[in-house]
Amino acid sequence: MSKPIVLTPLMRQYLAIKKKYPHTLLLFRVGDFYETFLEDAVKASKILGIVLTKRSNGSAAGVDLAGFPYHSLDLYLPKLVKAGCRVAICDQLEDPKQAKGIVQRGVTELVTPGLSFHDAVLDKKSNNYLAAIAFGKKLWGVSFLDLSTGEFFAAEGSRDYVRQLLQRFAPSEVLFNKKQQSIWDDFAQNDFAAYGIEEWVFQIDYAYDLLNTHFGTLSLKGFGMADYATAPIAAGAILYYLAETEHKETKHITAIVRLDEQQYVWLDPFTIKALELLVPQQPNGTALIDILDQTVTPMGARLLKKWLLFPLKEVSAIQKRLDTVAHFVNNPTITDLLVDTLKQIGDLERLIAKVAVGRVNPRELIALSKALAQLPPIQKALQQTSFSELAQWSIQFHDCQTLVQKIQHTIEQNPPLLTNQGGIIKQHVQDQLDRLRAMVHTGKDYLVQLQQKESQRTHIPSLKVAYNRVFGYYLEVPHAHQDKVPTDWIRKQTLSNAERYITEELKQYEENILNAAEQAQLLEQQLYQALVEETATYMLPIQQNAKLLAELDLYLSFARQACAHRYSKPIVEDSALLMLQGSRHPVIEQRLPVGTSYVPNDVCLNQTDQQIMIITGPNMAGKSALLRQVALTVLMAQIGSFVPATLAQIGLVDKLFTRVGASDNLAQGESTFMMEMTETASIMHNLSDRSLLLMDEIGRGTSTYDGMAIAWTLVEYLHNHPRYKARTLFATHYHELSSLAEELPAVKNYTVTVEEIAGKILFLHKLTPGSSAHSFGIHVAQMAGMPLRIVERATLLLQQLSTRNERKHPQKEREEDPLAHTIGKQPQEGSAYLHQLEAVLAATDIDALTPLDALLTLRDLKGMLKK
Ligand code: ADP
Ligand code: MG
Repeated sequence: MSKPIVLTPLMRQYLAIKKKYPHTLLLFRVGDFYETFLEDAVKASKILGIVLTKRSNGSAAGVDLAGFPYHSLDLYLPKLVKAGCRVAICDQLEDPKQAKGIVQRGVTELVTPGLSFHDAVLDKKSNNYLAAIAFGKKLWGVSFLDLSTGEFFAAEGSRDYVRQLLQRFAPSEVLFNKKQQSIWDDFAQNDFAAYGIEEWVFQIDYAYDLLNTHFGTLSLKGFGMADYATAPIAAGAILYYLAETEHKETKHITAIVRLDEQQYVWLDPFTIKALELLVPQQPNGTALIDILDQTVTPMGARLLKKWLLFPLKEVSAIQKRLDTVAHFVNNPTITDLLVDTLKQIGDLERLIAKVAVGRVNPRELIALSKALAQLPPIQKALQQTSFSELAQWSIQFHDCQTLVQKIQHTIEQNPPLLTNQGGIIKQHVQDQLDRLRAMVHTGKDYLVQLQQKESQRTHIPSLKVAYNRVFGYYLEVPHAHQDKVPTDWIRKQTLSNAERYITEELKQYEENILNAAEQAQLLEQQLYQALVEETATYMLPIQQNAKLLAELDLYLSFARQACAHRYSKPIVEDSALLMLQGSRHPVIEQRLPVGTSYVPNDVCLNQTDQQIMIITGPNMAGKSALLRQVALTVLMAQIGSFVPATLAQIGLVDKLFTRVGASDNLAQGESTFMMEMTETASIMHNLSDRSLLLMDEIGRGTSTYDGMAIAWTLVEYLHNHPRYKARTLFATHYHELSSLAEELPAVKNYTVTVEEIAGKILFLHKLTPGSSAHSFGIHVAQMAGMPLRIVERATLLLQQLSTRNERKHPQKEREEDPLAHTIGKQPQEGSAYLHQLEAVLAATDIDALTPLDALLTLRDLKGMLKK
C-alpha cells in the first residue's frame, strides 16, 4: 500500500472488523452490495472475474474495491470457498433508515471450505467434513464434523490409521496445531486444505470442558470415549473452531461417534485409490460408486459412501443387510412403491439441521413437511411385509404427523424464500394477523363504514372522512350540524363552512392502517420463528427418521442394482475360503463396447492348497481386471450388497491390501520404485490371517532381475509366513514365477488365456490353470500399430536374448538359483539359430516391405549367422 489512506468512518469500521478476522476474505455489506476492499478486493476480483476499481471520489481515495450485488451471494460465495478462501460475511445489523450515524455491522457467518450450510457450496451427494488432528506422542487423535448434517466422529490410533481415515472422509479442511506445522506437512504431503490454529486449544482439559458443555454431559463415557487421550483434543479443536467462525447454533450436533479401527475392514489409502471406489483414476473413468449408486435421496447417497469406505467385519451384521436386500429383490412391487415414495423425501437430514440452527427458509420448511408426510405410507408398506425383521426395524420411525399438520396449516404452499416480505403465513392462522391484513386490504372500506356508522349515530348526514398530510384522517362536519358533534371529538381545524375533527378511534385506525403492512409482516416473522422453534423440538426424531430413510434407500438401491445386473446374494461366513464362480468386474462389465460381453471367471482361494494364485498372461489379457473384481466383490459383499457373480462364498476379509506396480501410477506422480516398496513393506508388516492381498505386477518399477527377485521373495514370504496365511492374488508378467508352484504347495499357477491366430493374438480373458510361456509384449506392440520394422526387429532381439540367457545358465547353476530356473524356453541346442531365422522370416510381410526395409532385414538375418 503505497498511498496513505484517508480513513472514512466506513473504512475505519471495515478495518476494525477485518482485524478480528485475519486470514479471511471479508465480504462487507454496504447497501445492496457486498464489497471487498484492499488486498481482498484484488483477490476477489481475480477469483470471481469482477471489476477491480479504486474508490476515487469522496473520502477513501485510492482504496481498491470490488463488489457484487447482495442477491448474487449464492453465485459468488461457492467460487470463493472452492478457491480455498475462508469467507467472513459481514452484514448490516440494523436498518440503515433507523441508524443514527454509521450503520452497525458485524460478521454473521464465516464460511470455510469445511464449514458451510450453503446449498451452493455443498454437494448433495457428499458429506462436507471439517477435520481436526491432534498429534500425540504415540497415538494420534482425529475428529470429523459435517456441520450441514450434524454428524460428528472421533478416533484415535496409529499414524497409519489416522491417514486411512483422512483418506476415507476426504475432509474439505483440516485443523491442526500451528506450532506443529512441520509434522503436518510431513504427514499430509499437501493432500488436504489445512488451517493451523492456536497451540493452547490443543489441551485435554480445555477439550473436555468444551465437549461436556456442548453435550450437557459430565463425562464423555457415554460416547465410549473414556479411554481416548488425543481424540477428544481433536474434537475439542473442532468445537473451538465453530465458535471462532460464528457458528453459535450447533444443537443439531447431538452425539459424537467413536470410530474403532477394529470394527471395519482395513483399507489403506492406496487401496481406496487403486480400486477406484469413489474416484476414477482416469478423468473419464468410472468409479465403483458411480455404478452402485441407485439411491434416490441425498442422505442415501451419502450413506453409501460411508458404507463403502467402512465395510463390516461381522457376519451377523452383514447378513442382516443382505437379507433385507434379498427381501426387496424378491418383492419388486413393494421396492418400486417405496422408491417412488422416497423420491419425494429430499434432503431431510440437512433440512432438519437448518431448522436446528435457525437457518431454514419457508420453502424449506414446506419441503420438510412434505418429506415427513411420506412417512406413514412408507411405514405402512414396511409393516405389511412378510419379512418380520424389516417390519420390526420400521418401528423405529417417528410419526411426526402433528408437526406436518401444523406446518401445512400454518405456511402457504408456495411461500417466498425470504421471511421479511410477508406472504408466509396462511389466512385464519391467527386473528391478529388476519385483522392486520384485512386492514391493509380493506382499510379504505373501513373508513367508508366508519363514516356511515358515525353519520347514523350522530345524525349528521353530510359527515365525511377525509385525509390531509398535516393531521392525517379527520371527520368533517358542516357548520350547520355543529350542535350534533359528540363531546369526545377533538377539533383540529376550522374552515369557512365546516369544522374538522379527529377521534380516538380514527387515530387508532389511522395508525393501524399506516402500520398494518409493517406489523403484519413483523407478526408473520414472529409466527414463522415460533414455528421453526417448535419444529426444532422434533430434531431428534427427525434426525432418526433421516438415518432410517437413508438406510432404506440403500437397501432399495442395492436391490435394484442386483436385479438390473444379475447380481447374486453372497454367502458370507467366518472362514478363510474365498470362492467365486462366474465372477465379473462390476464396473468394466457396464462399460464394455456394445456387442462385447464380459468374460466371467472362477476364482478360489483358501489357506490349505491354494493360498496364492499366481496369474500370468500377456499385457491386456485381463489380469488387473481379475484382481480388482475379486477385491470389489468382497467389498460389495461386506457392505451388504449382492455381487456380480453366479456364486460367491466369502470368508470374511479383515484387511484388504492392494499394491499395483509402480509404472501403472505414473499419472499419480507415484512413479518411484521407492514408494512401491515402502507400501509393499507396510503390507508385509500389517498382515493378518484373514487378509486379502492383491499384488499387481509388483517389482515392475525396477530392472527385470531385481523386480523378479523381489516378487519371488514376496511370494515365498507370504506362503511361508508362520502365523498368517493371507489369501493372495499375484499377477505378474514374470512368467518365470510359475516355477514357484513346484516348490510351494499352496501356490498355484493360473493364466489368462489368449489365442494366437495367424501371428495375431486374440484375448479370451479366460482364467485357466497353468502358466503362460511368454509375455506377448511384441504382439501387443504390433496391435498398437507399431511400425512393422520395429516389430520385426524386436522379435529378432527377443530371440537373441533368450538364446543368450540360455547359454549363460548351465544346468547346474539353474538348480541353485531359483530365479534362473525357468528363464527362457529351451529350444534344442543347435536348432536355436534355425528357430530365430524361422521366426524372423515368418514375421516378415514381404508385400509391406520397402526396398530399404528388405535390405535391413537381410542384414539382420546375415548378422544372426555370424554368431
Ligand atoms: P492386464 O492387467 O492383463 O494387462 P487388464 O486387466 O488391464 O489387463 O485388461 C485389459 C482390458 O481387457 C480391460 O480394460 C478390459 O477392457 C478388458 N478385459 C479384461 N478382463 C476382461 C474380461 N474378463 N472380459 C472382457 N473384457 C475384459
Ligand atoms: Mg495390468
